Amino acid sequence: MKIHNFSAGPCILPDEVFQKMSEAVLNFNNSGSSIMEISHRRADAQEVMDTSIQLVKELLQVPDTHEVIFTQGGASLQFVMVPFNMMKVNGSAAYLETGAWAKGAIKEAKKLGNVEIIASSADQNFNYIPKDYTVPSNVDYFHCTSNNTIFGTQMKSFPESSVPVVCDMSSDILSKPLDVSKFDVIYAGAQKNMGPAGSVMAIVNKEVLGKTGRDIPSYLDYQIHINKGSAFNTWPVLAIYGVMLNLQWLKNQGGVAGISKINQEKAELLYSEIDRNGLFTGTAVVEDRSEMNATFVLNNEDLKSEFDKMWKEAGISSLNGHRDVGGYRASMYNALPLESVQVLVDVMKAFEQKFG
Ligand code: PMP
Repeated sequence: MKIHNFSAGPCILPDEVFQKMSEAVLNFNNSGSSIMEISHRRADAQEVMDTSIQLVKELLQVPDTHEVIFTQGGASLQFVMVPFNMMKVNGSAAYLETGAWAKGAIKEAKKLGNVEIIASSADQNFNYIPKDYTVPSNVDYFHCTSNNTIFGTQMKSFPESSVPVVCDMSSDILSKPLDVSKFDVIYAGAQKNMGPAGSVMAIVNKEVLGKTGRDIPSYLDYQIHINKGSAFNTWPVLAIYGVMLNLQWLKNQGGVAGISKINQEKAELLYSEIDRNGLFTGTAVVEDRSEMNATFVLNNEDLKSEFDKMWKEAGISSLNGHRDVGGYRASMYNALPLESVQVLVDVMKAFEQKFG
């Protein structure tokens, strides 16, 4: 039976990525060696990293002022690297608190300096994006989270800022066109729209580095990763190979502009069913709904086991919501086909016919 994987991450990737990765595990580029046993410094491995970086630059039209790096430690280590690289000694930063991951970033930044939470949606369990705030001009940087994976909200615009802007784009990077020049640091764990888990990508404006007065531990220093072409230490060759294949796939879909149209279609299809169907309610405020993660609950919790049975029988997997929200979360990352969303919508319609 075909599985329709709505997982929030790690998540569905294109079949051709799995196919080519598994071939490389056995015999990488007809070299007779597995991709898992070659040095990360070998020319053909280096080409994988360089091509991945090049593809990010091409797909997102990264300006020359910025550099793309891949490191490890996931987005969680970026919560640490950002203040190390951007916050002056005795400095301060402004953070937007829009969910659990934003809170995680705030927690780490507080260890290095003063953090001002300039707006928060904690009062409504993060079901909206705060808009009534201004970014102060006397902080070292402003940090926000473009898509709140757990709560199903997404920033549709970004505030004016006279200080450097840092954004965690882990769960909506490469899902739509983006003006990279408006940001000074963008970071994203790979395991949603970029590839398998095991790496994190950062796009860094080189002009904002070197201004903190800190002695930054080498691995945490963006400049070192930039200088070394993301090969400061042993990088995960297989994981980055998956990233490269996924970026090539995305390019063949018409890039971010092409995929963006399909992502919009998927989100419209599901949200219109959530709103039409009398048995469900969306949890996020309509204007802030995420195109990547749609969160919704059953109006009558007593029907939970019936609904769960129906979607599981249809081949749908990983639809359960995060424990902080409950209900359901349909994650519709780039590789999820429209057809899978249609299957879910059909199940919701059939469920209404039976129990509505
Ligand atoms: N930020 C966001 C928006 C996330 O969705 C996640 C979870 N993937 C993280 C940060 C943490 O990422 P990681 O597990 O790569 O540290």
